[in-house]
Amino acid sequence: MTILIRGADIVTQDAGRRIIRGDILIEGGRIASVGESGAGADEVVDASGLIAIPGLINMHTHLGMTILRGYGEGLPLHRWLEERIWPIEARQSAQDAEAAARLAFCEMIRGGTTSFAEMCLHETSGIFRAAKDAGMRGTISRCLLDFNHPEWVPKVMKEVESSLANGDGAVRPSVGAHSPYTCSEELLLKTKALARERGLPFQMHVSETRKEVFDVLGARGKYPYEYLDSIGLMDGRSIFVHGSWLTKKEMLIAGKAGITVVGCPVSGLKLATGGITQIAELDAAGANVALGTDSAASNNSLDMFQTMKMAALLQKHHYWKADAISSQRVLDMSTINGAKALGVEAGSIEPGRLADIVLIERGPNLAPGHDIAGDIVYSAGPQNVRDVYIGGKPVMRGRKILTMDEGAVIEAATRAARALVSS
Ligand SMILES: [Zn+2]
Repeated sequence: MTILIRGADIVTQDAGRRIIRGDILIEGGRIASVGESGAGADEVVDASGLIAIPGLINMHTHLGMTILRGYGEGLPLHRWLEERIWPIEARQSAQDAEAAARLAFCEMIRGGTTSFAEMCLHETSGIFRAAKDAGMRGTISRCLLDFNHPEWVPKVMKEVESSLANGDGAVRPSVGAHSPYTCSEELLLKTKALARERGLPFQMHVSETRKEVFDVLGARGKYPYEYLDSIGLMDGRSIFVHGSWLTKKEMLIAGKAGITVVGCPVSGLKLATGGITQIAELDAAGANVALGTDSAASNNSLDMFQTMKMAALLQKHHYWKADAISSQRVLDMSTINGAKALGVEAGSIEPGRLADIVLIERGPNLAPGHDIAGDIVYSAGPQNVRDVYIGGKPVMRGRKILTMDEGAVIEAATRAARALVSS
């Protein structure tokens, strides 16, 4: 099956960051050619007037929490967690999490997101199933903790290992640990060793709040990144989420080790965590910077356009510098950098890459088009997304999701949410 997307303005995200008007030929799930295409195809899609971008990559989600969107709204962080989120999460079943994940995938596809990195508190097989049905690309980790009780480690490791049996093709497992303040050193070392042994990404929350930084400093005598570096947890497959309270020295360590740091600007602002992920400085230091929404309970959306805009605005605001970061660099973080972190050949529209492509309709909010990269970061939204391809397969066309019955998904998720809240 070959598909020819004809006449779009293509944001290639190639080495030269070229934006060219032309055709994209998709063959067998990958991009066969970009630019002038004399070739015919089984199917031709007229994309004149549209913008083609690589699918956006959301590098931090908790999909099961999508049905907690708006629950406990307006409470301060500790009351929100202790009175609302933690008790309800403890009651949430794997079936609830699966219904929530399907809802999340509908929202993501509508928002031009084609890949995700999930840290899941629940048994993961339902999330894998939902991702596969939706046609998404991504990685799912079981993210556990031992509350610094090393005697729990064998049990926790068993659950982490069993989660690795799931996944194939576009949806693959990864290894997770909750954070350096909720996990014993033994658990951190064992989970990372398992990730290395299997050649998988390793996901962990690090330095989201100032309190946890000082907890780690008190318990281990080092700032979190210094500590994690000293025990050998930092390498090119480490994905550390948040990093919103890092010292300059820690940012240099991140760059030297080549880890991925995932900024979640909207969630950080909404939870009033205070610090910001200094993505421009981390980028300059050599870290692989990516972006994520975090859960719909703390965001309250899974919109990567909004996340890109907020990430950029926060840098400008923080440094009092309107040129603190370019829109092109922010777009890189949500495309090629995310793909690098996941270890997948996506994130750009070039021959040989996986055909994860989003077609964007301009509409009034993207006219007149002086700066397409700037338009994508600052002006675009899910309302502009018309068609979405993942691995060459159309998952949405003409704003209709093809891989799921969207109405049924919303209904099932809402039913699960209501039952959970009233239980
Ligand atoms: Zn998280």
